[in-house]
Amino acid sequence: MTDAADTTTLAQRVRRFIFDTFLERSAPPVVEEVMTAFGLSRDETIGVFRELDAARHIALVKGTARILMAFPFAAIATPFRVTIGDREYFANCAWDAVAFHAMLGQDVRVDSFCHHCAEPIAIELSAGHAVRVEPAGTIVYLALRPTEWWENITTTCANTMVFFASTEHRDASDLCAPPEQAASLTPDLTHALSQPIYGSKFDLDYQRPGRDALLAHFAALGLTGPYWTL
Ligand SMILES: [Zn+2]
Repeated sequence: MTDAADTTTLAQRVRRFIFDTFLERSAPPVVEEVMTAFGLSRDETIGVFRELDAARHIALVKGTARILMAFPFAAIATPFRVTIGDREYFANCAWDAVAFHAMLGQDVRVDSFCHHCAEPIAIELSAGHAVRVEPAGTIVYLALRPTEWWENITTTCANTMVFFASTEHRDASDLCAPPEQAASLTPDLTHALSQPIYGSKFDLDYQRPGRDALLAHFAALGLTGPYWTL
């Protein structure tokens, strides 16, 4: 641990601090807490936050140094509630909710809603699988192409990555896009998709997979075709 800390950057250590804090209290640290924990000035802290935002590890509330997202954690109430043991969290989107299982490897319960009719949806994940899905036809719907996800990640997460109780309710929704512009995934496939992106989030040297690694991962899961390009 000491050796690892010696070779890590400040941004890596602050990133982990943000994730540790989110995990512990279901809310992100504020600038002042990072200043104290790392002996930084306000400007230095805000600079690190902006670096982490630009590297897509976190998202700040626009125009502020307040942490809105540290994927999959959300700092505000969302329709994607995650329960792990006696702790509750909010996820940024349907995918992020399922990804808690890949990130932590612990049993996860997701409580959400059908984006069309608001029917409650419950998913339990354990040992790499969705062991309970109610209603059984629940899908994770990604209404934007991967190339569009990061154009505005806040609106992508908040508005376009949702659960539907069935494909019928997807098709009846205003969000429904042509098949080549959107993806419908089972909870199991969403978990598999999450593994290399979220599985090592708590490692100090965590890196987001690059384009080629992601494309190879998509292909390994059978996710090919015009939608699955980057
Ligand atoms: Zn519905």
